Amino acid sequence: MDEAVVVVAEKSGAEVQARAYEASVQYIEELTSKCNEIQTKVLAEILSQNAETEYLKRHGMPHGHINRDTFKTNVPVITYEDIKSDILRIYNGDFSPLLCAKPIVELVLSTGTSSGQSKMIPITNDDMQRRIRLRNAVYPFLTKCIEGENPDKGKMLGLLLTRDETITPGGLVARPGTNAILKNPQFYNDNPYPYNTNTSPIEAIHCPDHFQSIYTQLLCGFYQRHDVTSVKVVFGSNLTWAIHFLKGHYSDLCHDISSGNLNPKITDLSLRTRMIDTFMQHPQPELAKFIESACIGENWEGILKTIWPNAKYIEAILTGSMTQYIPMLNYYSGGLPLVTLLYVSSECDFGYNLDPMCGPYNISYTLMPNMAYYEFIPLTSEDDVSGSQPEPVDMANVEVGQEYELVITTYTGLYSQLLMNSRYRMGDVILLTGFYNSTPQFKFIRRRNVVLSIDVDKTTESDLHMAIQMASNVLQPFNTIILDYTSNSCTETIPGHYVIYLELITKTPANGTGLGANILEECCLAMEESLGFYYKSGRKSNCIGPLEIRVLSNGTFEKLMDFAISNGATFNQFKMPRCVKSVSMLELLDSRVDSSHFSPSTPHCRS
Ligand code: AMP
Repeated sequence: MDEAVVVVAEKSGAEVQARAYEASVQYIEELTSKCNEIQTKVLAEILSQNAETEYLKRHGMPHGHINRDTFKTNVPVITYEDIKSDILRIYNGDFSPLLCAKPIVELVLSTGTSSGQSKMIPITNDDMQRRIRLRNAVYPFLTKCIEGENPDKGKMLGLLLTRDETITPGGLVARPGTNAILKNPQFYNDNPYPYNTNTSPIEAIHCPDHFQSIYTQLLCGFYQRHDVTSVKVVFGSNLTWAIHFLKGHYSDLCHDISSGNLNPKITDLSLRTRMIDTFMQHPQPELAKFIESACIGENWEGILKTIWPNAKYIEAILTGSMTQYIPMLNYYSGGLPLVTLLYVSSECDFGYNLDPMCGPYNISYTLMPNMAYYEFIPLTSEDDVSGSQPEPVDMANVEVGQEYELVITTYTGLYSQLLMNSRYRMGDVILLTGFYNSTPQFKFIRRRNVVLSIDVDKTTESDLHMAIQMASNVLQPFNTIILDYTSNSCTETIPGHYVIYLELITKTPANGTGLGANILEECCLAMEESLGFYYKSGRKSNCIGPLEIRVLSNGTFEKLMDFAISNGATFNQFKMPRCVKSVSMLELLDSRVDSSHFSPSTPHCRS
């Protein structure tokens, strides 16, 4: 291509990017400037659209009333359990206007569970379009931040995975939310984001066999290594998993590249054909040698930057419990910027990060006021202990610095209404940090759930995360980081005690000395010191025994995830449980304990 053509191509890419950015900014500005008006409109639309539904009639909502006070007074108490029988009717093929007037096109399976089963969230076409339109609008905010980049050239190494789908007896597709987005042509067709050119062919992303899918996606990423300008996964944990996969399979991958013959384990016919036709026409021994030399040995620091030298950032959800993966990803990526854009769920897309390069610790999501009608239950630190539940407030009445639990009313009939402990509550705790135009911005704090309790102590996921942070600080001078963690309240001993399972990784081999047992005991105590008053007073009065760390052999959390997936969890949406209660999972963990260490003394207790 001569120089002039290159300039034209670059200009056209830049122009496309500029136009997309302007359109997105305008759209988001409009939405966020009229947040309260939009919220009123959303509730009115939900109620008027659904006035004829069996659900609203059943519960005596006066026909045609769209006023929020009438809604709050008349619509009865519900939880997912309360509408489960309605959702089962939809599952079994009842297509009458039951929960919502618009036709349900699929059921999205949430990672949230109900009696051990995934919750099934009904979705309409309008719903899906609303989500996709907004998601596509947020990407130009990111491209705008990537300086000096030619948007025509960059490719995304998108390690995105789907899984098996089922057809309900009523003929609806039931699948994880990521499948629903990744298999929707609108997601690709309407996306103005030039980096959406994925290195992976659609056959690889759509292949439900995770081995075949990730194997071929890595191969494609190697073949196009100089084109890759970003690496994308859904959750941070997915990328650490993919890196572990690479550790286990790089020799096979290199063998394929150097021989030009695809591994016979890739048996999915359309994927196999696509790989052979598009990528594997010629052996590439030099490339294989390079990948092999990058992967051989123990030191994988900066491996992503070595293999994909033009990558400018990594995109993954890294807030909430995913912050745990930030040090790991910094280690493997050689310090590439980590970008998190979305705060989403099966029920609804809540918020987007409009300042993509701010770093995962600083993210405040802007709530999207057109996605659902939101209410906010103000929380105090005592709520989790007392179980009390204050009145929820509307978006117009939220206050900066306050933590809230999010409550939603969506277009598809997940109605919310104040009554004690009986609302459709997301279980997510968020902290109001400010406003974008008139729209609230929130930090994601935690899932509102207690993970550990022996006595009257109640340790939440974020308390545990904080304690892990303390242990990390103790380990840092020893070049050791915590790869992953989980916990369990062990009541087999008297008194019961907290057990923290850790998988550790040492950055540079520790001169053969290993980590002294005293350091791990110090970690136990540091964790205890960071826990709450009720924990420490329980320790003082010997109602709670010394905290125990069980160090796991390498690869245990990968095995735990494989185990969860083989039992029905979704790869893309899988989140490591921060507390394990399942007997079989505990057996797996306990079968791989290398050493065990207890807190050597009682933590200081101040009332
Ligand atoms: P699912 O319905 O299975 O997709 O899970 C949705 C849940 O994942 C949310 O309610 C949050 O608890 C969590 N989640 C989603 N996005 C984020 C995010 N950006 N940061 C932290 N947690 C998130």
